[in-house]
Amino acid sequence: MNIGIFGGTFNPVHFGHLRIAEESRQAAGLDRILFIPSGNPPLKTEGIAAARHRFAMTRLAVKDNPFFSVLDIECRSRRRSYTVHTLDKLHELYPGDRLFFLLGIDAFLDIPNWYRPDLLVRRTNFLVLSRPGCRFADLCASPYLTIPKSILRRLDAKTLMSHTTLLGGDHAVILLNVTPVAISATAIRTLAAQGKSIKYLLPAEVESYIIFENLYGSRKRRHRAVTGGCR
Ligand code: ATP
Repeated sequence: MNIGIFGGTFNPVHFGHLRIAEESRQAAGLDRILFIPSGNPPLKTEGIAAARHRFAMTRLAVKDNPFFSVLDIECRSRRRSYTVHTLDKLHELYPGDRLFFLLGIDAFLDIPNWYRPDLLVRRTNFLVLSRPGCRFADLCASPYLTIPKSILRRLDAKTLMSHTTLLGGDHAVILLNVTPVAISATAIRTLAAQGKSIKYLLPAEVESYIIFENLYGSRKRRHRAVTGGCR
C-alpha cells in the first residue's frame, strides 16, 4: 500500500489541509492518508491549542472521507514530537508499505531546522505541494534537492503539474501543483481572536468545536463584540 503521512500542527485543521490531502491522494495513487497532529511541537509554541483539541478537531474534519484517518501517536506522547521518530514508528506499524510524507513548499524548506534532518530525508518519500505565497523556484535553496531551474519555473507557471525526482537512496520526491487554497491556520486564529467569522474556512463542525471550547479567544471576543454596542 501507498500511505500518505500528513503531519502538522493543525491549529486548527482547515480546508487548505483537506483539499491538498485529497488531491495528493488522487495524484499520487495513495491508498489512504494518515493525519498526525503534533503533540508538543518543538518549533511552534505560541498560541497552540492543547493536543487533545487539535486531535479532536482533526477527527471531526476527516470523518466523512473513508480514505482519511487520524493517528494520535504524537498527541499522546508526553515527549516532544520529532518527525524522524514518528516515521520510525510508522515503519514499524506499516512494514512493507510505502510512506509518502505530505508537506507544503514552506514546510519542506524548513526541514533543515527540524530535528536530525539528515536522517529524516532518508526515511521516507515526500510529496511537496504548492501553496499560495510560495514558489517551487524557492526549492533551489533546499540542500536536499537538485532540480533544474527550468523545471521549477514550469511548475510555478503551471505548464508542468508535477515532477518526480530521487532523494538519496531510492526515495522519491514528488513536486505537485494543487488547487491554490489561500487559507492558513494563523489567519483563522487571528479572525477568531478578533471575534470575526471563520465560517467556510474550515468544516462547520470544527468551527462549532472552536466556539464551544472557546479556543483562540473566539467566545470571549464574540461576546464582547455583541454586548459592546449596547452600552
Ligand atoms: P500556521 O498558519 O499555524 O503556520 P498552517 O496553516 O501552515 O499553520 P500547519 O498545520 O502548520 O498549517 O500545516 C501542515 C502542513 O500543511 C504544512 O506542510 C503546510 O505547508 C501545509 N499547508 C497548510 N496550509 C496549506 C495550504 N493552504 N496550501 C498548501 N499547503 C498547506
